[in-house]
Amino acid sequence: MYEEGSVLFFKKPHVCGSHEWRIIRTGADLKLECVGCKRVIMLPKYKVEKLLKHK
Ligand SMILES: [Zn+2]
Repeated sequence: MYEEGSVLFFKKPHVCGSHEWRIIRTGADLKLECVGCKRVIMLPKYKVEKLLKHK
């Protein structure tokens, strides 16, 4: 489901304005890099679920 290198779309934009986050590591927590500003964050999967924009 979550694959390294794939891009997630969040409902709310990051402070830089980008909605896209690239997965750089999976696990209990996902390590995500903002596509816009390259900021790296760690989020537990359940939180990512709530932030995702489902089409
Ligand atoms: Zn950003």
